[in-house]
Amino acid sequence: MTRISRRSALAGGAALLAAPLFAGRAFAAQTDVVVIGAGAAGIAAARDLRAAGLDVTVIEAGPRVGGRVYTDTDTFGVPYDVGAHWLHTESQNPFVAYGRANGFDVYRAPDAELMYVGDRPATVEEQTAYSSAHAQANRAIERAGAAGQDVSPASVIPDLGAWEPTVNFLVGGYEMAKDLANFSCSDWYTGAGGGDAYCREGFGTLFAHSARGVDVSLNTAARAVRFGGTGVEVETDSGTITACAVVCTVSMGVLKAEKIVFDPPLPDDKQEAIQLLTMGHYNHVALQFKENFFGIGEDGYYSYKIDKSVDGVPHGFAALVDAAGTGITYCDLGGAFAKQMADAGKEAALDFTLSELTKAFGSKVRDALVKSSVTDWSNDPLTMGGYASAEPGGAWTRDAMRRPVDDRLWFAGEAMSEGMWATVAGAHMSGQAVAMQVRAALG
Ligand SMILES: Cc1cc2nc3c(=O)[nH]c(=O)nc-3n(C[C@H](O)[C@H](O)[C@H](O)COP(=O)(O)OP(=O)(O)OC[C@H]3O[C@@H](n4cnc5c(N)ncnc54)[C@H](O)[C@@H]3O)c2cc1C
Repeated sequence: MTRISRRSALAGGAALLAAPLFAGRAFAAQTDVVVIGAGAAGIAAARDLRAAGLDVTVIEAGPRVGGRVYTDTDTFGVPYDVGAHWLHTESQNPFVAYGRANGFDVYRAPDAELMYVGDRPATVEEQTAYSSAHAQANRAIERAGAAGQDVSPASVIPDLGAWEPTVNFLVGGYEMAKDLANFSCSDWYTGAGGGDAYCREGFGTLFAHSARGVDVSLNTAARAVRFGGTGVEVETDSGTITACAVVCTVSMGVLKAEKIVFDPPLPDDKQEAIQLLTMGHYNHVALQFKENFFGIGEDGYYSYKIDKSVDGVPHGFAALVDAAGTGITYCDLGGAFAKQMADAGKEAALDFTLSELTKAFGSKVRDALVKSSVTDWSNDPLTMGGYASAEPGGAWTRDAMRRPVDDRLWFAGEAMSEGMWATVAGAHMSGQAVAMQVRAALG
């Protein structure tokens, strides 16, 4: 099991749990704290600040809460997690206990895997060669990370021969949403490991349930944050809000694209951190099949020997098969190839995935296909990517982003998590940590 195992599932009834139980509302022009963004970090921060007796206004640019954790029950008629699906690091993940205590079917992720070579399962020799290459890669990153080497995995991993593109994808794109040249070993080393869990009703459904009761002004984008004086002003499409403090939880992609203007400009270390703590790319090609032809049961992992790599970028995907028996298989693209596919359009990603599967399983792939859906988080203006990690040389950036500006402006979110970055749980805990700091600062 790798350090972050980006793997897990969905399914079933319990539709009533999916019902939105919160409501959007107009905001007050004056408040104690403005929270920008109603994803996992924003909701956690708002809930804790309100519990401490502060007046909190949450503004969300989109039409719903959840951000990158959201379950769609319409497209396939069963829960489909458009973003996060795995409840990573089950032992430390607060959504596991929350889900179980609130009637959700949260279960441990099985770890069955199937590796294909061409149109057949890998032989024992091939499987051994693959496992050894994968272990070599992980050992090299781990050694460099433990030694504090803020360099890319590509620069420390030995030649893996024919298995290089496959391992590159499974360790890079599939886990980190980046290829091996584009993240830092020492940043990777700070990530928590451990087994995963799934929520049968969808992780997004579970999250939305946990967000009940937190009032959010939906469809309200922050355009500018002015923090130079004794207070803070947040300019939105619907007017300006004056407050004592701001918690900004938008993604690193949104910050890098300068969709929110900070006045005065952010300190130099923050600006540099925003350039180096960059978004990787990760997208689902969700395929609903009327039969499971993979040869591995529900919630099993299908991967295959990837032979094509262009300039160090593997062209391939890995899949979570028949997630929780719903018939939906999540074929996931990650890294630069995921971005290339997103830019080429959803049809291109779908065609690529179906043709790769057809090479392995023949005509039954298209015969069994009922419906498909493809995500594009890369070009979503409210996200601009999948999740963030430090570029080589950027391992210091998470600390820099965690430091408040003038005890007025805080950043929270998955990228600012200590240890559980790139996860919903990490975003949630980052929101909680910042809420404590804001309470202390506001006395
Ligand atoms: C395809 C995919 C698969 C993933 N898989 C997993 C997984 O299996 N398990 C896991 O734990 N994590 C997974 N992740 C990562 C996880 O989804 C994120 O780490 C987490 O949801 C981030 O929460 P957040 O609150 O930091 O940010 P977000 O969820 O991005 O919340 C920020 C909010 O800010 C809003 N916003 C943006 N701009 C503005 C603005 N100008 N004004 C107001 N609001 C604004 C956004 O609409 C959004 O709602 C996945 C991510 C993706 C994309």
